[in-house]
Amino acid sequence: MGEKRAAVLKKELNISTAGDLLRYFPFRHSELFYNIADLKNFNFNNENEEKPVVILQGNIFSVQQQYERTTAIFQDKTGSISLVWFNMQNSGWLHEISHNTQYILFGEVSVFNGRMQIVSPFFRTFSSYKLSRIKSKFQSFYHSNSKINKQFSAKNFHYEFSRIVAEACYSTLPACEETLPQYILSENNLLSLRKTLGNIHFPQSAELLKNAVFRIKFEEIFYNQMNILRQKANRKAKNNGFVFDKDNGFVKKFYKNCLPFTLTGAQIRVLREIRGDLVSGKQMNRLLQGDVGSGKTIVALISALMAIDSGYQACIMAPTEVLARQHLSSIEKLTKNLGINVKLLIGATKVKERREIHAALKEGTLHILIGTHALIEDTVEFQNLGLAVIDEQHRFGVAQRAKLYEKNYQPPHILAMSATPIPRTLAMTLYGDLEISVIDELPPNRKPIYTKHFFDNNRAQLNKLIIHEIDNGHQVYVVYPLIEESEKLDLKNLENGYNIMCEVFPQYKISFLHGKMKSAQKDEIMAKFKSGETKILLSTTVIEVGVDVPNASVMVIESAQRFGLSQLHQLRGRVGRGAEQSFCILMSKYELASQTAARLELMTQTNDGFKIAEADLEMRGAGTLEGKQQSGMPIDFQLFNLAAAADQQLLQNARDIVNKILDEDEKLEQPQNAIILKRLEEIYKELRDWSGIS
Ligand code: ADP
Ligand code: MG
Repeated sequence: MGEKRAAVLKKELNISTAGDLLRYFPFRHSELFYNIADLKNFNFNNENEEKPVVILQGNIFSVQQQYERTTAIFQDKTGSISLVWFNMQNSGWLHEISHNTQYILFGEVSVFNGRMQIVSPFFRTFSSYKLSRIKSKFQSFYHSNSKINKQFSAKNFHYEFSRIVAEACYSTLPACEETLPQYILSENNLLSLRKTLGNIHFPQSAELLKNAVFRIKFEEIFYNQMNILRQKANRKAKNNGFVFDKDNGFVKKFYKNCLPFTLTGAQIRVLREIRGDLVSGKQMNRLLQGDVGSGKTIVALISALMAIDSGYQACIMAPTEVLARQHLSSIEKLTKNLGINVKLLIGATKVKERREIHAALKEGTLHILIGTHALIEDTVEFQNLGLAVIDEQHRFGVAQRAKLYEKNYQPPHILAMSATPIPRTLAMTLYGDLEISVIDELPPNRKPIYTKHFFDNNRAQLNKLIIHEIDNGHQVYVVYPLIEESEKLDLKNLENGYNIMCEVFPQYKISFLHGKMKSAQKDEIMAKFKSGETKILLSTTVIEVGVDVPNASVMVIESAQRFGLSQLHQLRGRVGRGAEQSFCILMSKYELASQTAARLELMTQTNDGFKIAEADLEMRGAGTLEGKQQSGMPIDFQLFNLAAAADQQLLQNARDIVNKILDEDEKLEQPQNAIILKRLEEIYKELRDWSGIS
């Protein structure tokens, strides 16, 4: 192909070899016809069916122009069909059409007024067009973008791309090496790679297309699972763990004197799972999932006490200063009479205090260090760090988490916590190398939060609710969206909202909070809200994670349509922390895309974070989920679709197959598995080895 096209494919799709082309898969296929007469057999009434596509050879007659609409007749040996163009700007070429010339015509066929027509067909003179393509039963359609379309006249991208792929097939396919062992192909009835690649681009039958798609999905998920399950085995073999088997009595004393409530069954179960890891001699790498308010903090604290009981130190890292401070205050409260030393280290910590902390850490007189990413800086040295807790772990990068591993001569145990429930299937593809614990039970006496979707005309009702709740001693959050692209406007909305609130509720103390404020100012505002002095707190999503003010009973989310499902769920979790009824009001504009409306509707129907996460996955697809960045590993499946039930089954099957292979040949040393090792290296060669990192 020409240089420009080659350059754009390289830049936009990372395609630079014929092999890359063959591995750039189409996302859909339409049935393809080569004669007008054959279209008779196509059922145009079936709405689920893609429209058929034609590649025809013949002549163009009766070109007519009427206003913005141009029509013509195309005739091949077997019949005729109408052609239509709308809004033509450069129509000069129409006059060059001659009914004596043979053309090749490409297009999608639709039915209008009972007659078959092709809208805006693409055509070339037969003599100029080298039809080097492979005859097939289906036309493939490929994802592109505006930059690519510029080099391939947009509508014809698929036809042109097919031509290039055909060349790649001719030149490369015969030499293409298999990427799965023969025994896996035959045990699972999979097509060979050659047949697969040939048929995914140029399907010779519906059956072969189906099998080609299946083989590709299988391979995508097979290597994903092979990669993470090997890493898991690797890590287990490599990383010894500190053994927490001494008893300085802190855990016992805590249970006896400090526990403010009875632990839930789920908390007890999870603690038992953690305990098991901490005495196993292997490094713990555990993800603790629990909905907002499910009580993860106390689990983290008790785990830290287990470390302290054996003479180790612990740290708790949180993504924001607000959250770190809150951890400090709740942990200080919980451990008041326990005789342990807990300190906070954040960006704002003064030099003098910082020095004291550093010294105490090295001496070992500081037991639990709580902080933001300030605590992974190189200057922070522990005497003997045994456990690192990472709260809201998905907010940290892999590299940041990796730094914790270097805080002792061998990696400390890691307890990663997340309030964003991740569907099981996603967890399996992202972090096969993590153990997972789930707190699936809320503390007793929690009432489900009553959630309602309101429009502007419900403001009076909302205001009534706010007054009712505040006069009954409660407090209210109002959250505004803030995204970088529209930051200025968003902050202005927050400010406007604040002014309006002050007018409507002159009787209450109202404050507002956003991420751009100085941290001292933020802390003061949070403190006043916590103490109950401030009744209404307006804020951007800085309060999203973990903030705990049990007295707040109303969460109003402005422009709720701009939030994703899991974010809405997180925000809602700020209320409903006490025993009384709480409310979440989703304010939105009137006109909503149907998907957005469905999202808000779902919020009003369930409080179950896992259900919401499943729905989020289904609605948005795996690629856009927050979780994707969490793993540090790419899950760039082209065809495998985590949200589809059939593919989830395939995931389970592939995982079983991989486990069986690794059971029998952990290092992939047997000759029949050589292909697997080679392919793994090809796929994951650019990636750094994060195998030890959660
Ligand atoms: P999250 O999982 O969101 O971090 P927290 O640890 O902040 O949740 O706990 C939420 C609230 O529930 C806190 O006020 C905490 O004291 C309380 N809590 C936690 N566990 C229990 C329990 N077993 N019984 C009663 N209240 C609990
Ligand atoms: Mg929390």
